Amino acid sequence: MKILIIAEHKNGVLAEATRELFGLPLGQAEIHAVVAGEGIAPLAEPLGQLGAAKVRLVDSPALAGGTGESLGQALGQVIPQLAPDVVLTAHTPQGRDLAPRLAEGLDAALATDCIQATFNDGQVTLRRPVYAGKATAEVEFTDDSLKVITIRPRTAKAPEPDTALSAEVTSVSVQLSEQKTVLKEIIAGGGERPDVTEAAIIVTGGRSLGSAENFSIIENFADTIGAAVGSSRAAVDAGYRPYRDQVGQTGKVVSPQVYIACGVSGAIQHLAGMRTSKHIVAINTDPDAPIFQLADHGIVGDLFEVVPLLAEAVKNRTGG
Ligand SMILES: Cc1cc2nc3c(=O)[nH]c(=O)nc-3n(C[C@H](O)[C@H](O)[C@H](O)COP(=O)(O)OP(=O)(O)OC[C@H]3O[C@@H](n4cnc5c(N)ncnc54)[C@H](O)[C@@H]3O)c2cc1C
Repeated sequence: MKILIIAEHKNGVLAEATRELFGLPLGQAEIHAVVAGEGIAPLAEPLGQLGAAKVRLVDSPALAGGTGESLGQALGQVIPQLAPDVVLTAHTPQGRDLAPRLAEGLDAALATDCIQATFNDGQVTLRRPVYAGKATAEVEFTDDSLKVITIRPRTAKAPEPDTALSAEVTSVSVQLSEQKTVLKEIIAGGGERPDVTEAAIIVTGGRSLGSAENFSIIENFADTIGAAVGSSRAAVDAGYRPYRDQVGQTGKVVSPQVYIACGVSGAIQHLAGMRTSKHIVAINTDPDAPIFQLADHGIVGDLFEVVPLLAEAVKNRTGG
């Protein structure tokens, strides 16, 4: 089986979500990677060290903006030449945009937001959440046609690069027609903290914080442990946090190593966005709050007392 990984990158660095794809149980598959963008040649080496046997570079100034339209057009030309059995990409905003375009254009089967994937003897088996994460569906494919698959970030651990490995690198050129969309500007989200979709640890606050100012308790704790700050929709709707922090069905879907929910009730729409977190900690005054049914560790208590104590305890343990 030949698996083609679409490598995502920013500022000349491979996305962690792409590196993680190499940590999936890929069996005996032949792993190829494709990178599209401008000035992307240096990315071939890390891809080789992660295990790509062949790397295709699609280097063009027209791909500098990396819109779904331009990437979709470029990769739509390159993928048939490479004839993979599976195209894998991360379920990031870019992957979510790209995968359906490719599947439609290449008449391929599509499975998105997978949280488990095995590739054995030509057989692909996937698991993906359904009903807002209340259940998971097992997905298999009924024929040998091309499969386009997106994998939720943090599904697998990225392997350590092996400096003894290197890929065979080839440049491929594409013809792009006039674009209907163009990237004009990227406005940075602001702040030093990681985004919730990239963080290994997330500390989330809910409506119970009561004000935007009170979120400083959550921010202080998050900064102490190098975490991102998340928010329930109720806290976003109340104007305490920006929408980019919202976790849930109508916010971002996250899967960190540790998710700490502070004063969040655990409504089904919130759980839909964080259910696959590896370890869930909940702090809530109500012992019957639904979040405790999912939590691995629960503290029944007032977050205004508990969270500063936790921050203090971490500082004492780490020496500040
Ligand atoms: C179509 C749709 C989509 C939605 N999408 C989302 C989404 O993407 N994300 C999302 O989060 N929600 C979403 N919601 C809203 C969701 O249903 C809930 O209303 C919301 O998640 C509640 O937020 P909350 O837990 O902060 O607030 P509440 O439900 O008000 O819960 C507050 C919790 O804090 C506890 N508490 C109070 N004071 C303290 C204290 N001092 N210390 C500790 N605990 C305390 C309470 O016991 C309670 O459990 C959606 C709803 C709909 C209908």
